[in-house]
Amino acid sequence: MIIHSADFVISNTEVEKCPAPNLPEYAFIGRSNVGKSSLINMLTNHKKLAKTSGKPGKTQLINHFSINKEWYLVDLPGYGYAKTSKTNRKMWSKFIDQYLLTRENLMNTFVLIDSRLEPQKIDLDFMEWCASNGIPFSMVFTKTDKLSKVEIDKNIAAYKRRMLKQWEEMPPYFVTSSVSSKGREEVLDYVEEVNGL
Ligand code: GDP
Repeated sequence: MIIHSADFVISNTEVEKCPAPNLPEYAFIGRSNVGKSSLINMLTNHKKLAKTSGKPGKTQLINHFSINKEWYLVDLPGYGYAKTSKTNRKMWSKFIDQYLLTRENLMNTFVLIDSRLEPQKIDLDFMEWCASNGIPFSMVFTKTDKLSKVEIDKNIAAYKRRMLKQWEEMPPYFVTSSVSSKGREEVLDYVEEVNGL
């Protein structure tokens, strides 16, 4: 897919205030600092479309961007910062739930996973929640420029082992780097394919 335009539309904390669901929509989510803003900027060829920051836990907003005036790219808030929680309660906000459960034009949620880490409980919990609620998702392994191919394969294999214990198959997954633009075409082609554009 060639990106002709990428325009900011609206930021908000209320699902009701999202743009009318008249275009297919693709959401991006992951733990704070996973590299989500960098990935969005890399995919759209914009240095500053999504705001990168070294400071996790910033304002929790749903950000809509219009891509080629054909689809919405949605930057969801990072999850995983309710560290005080003693119980096993979910660590993503209610309005992320509400957005994912009700947004009728949501075609796919890209769940970003830091490729350098072994499987993280919060990511596994989040994907399990998506699966049990019928929310289509795929995995995007980020920051792979920081690893050798052997290490990447090892970490992805660890996810596969964990996930295949519960599910019959792995969701689609992408191996990316915002530094080298690795995986860019694959992610954008997937959007095109799911969209039937
Ligand atoms: P966000 O909080 O998920 O939006 O994460 P950011 O995009 O702000 O990235 C967090 C940090 O990781 C920043 O210091 C980025 O420069 C760095 N980073 C993000 N993506 C990559 C990548 O693909 N490769 C490398 N080496 N660093 C990355």
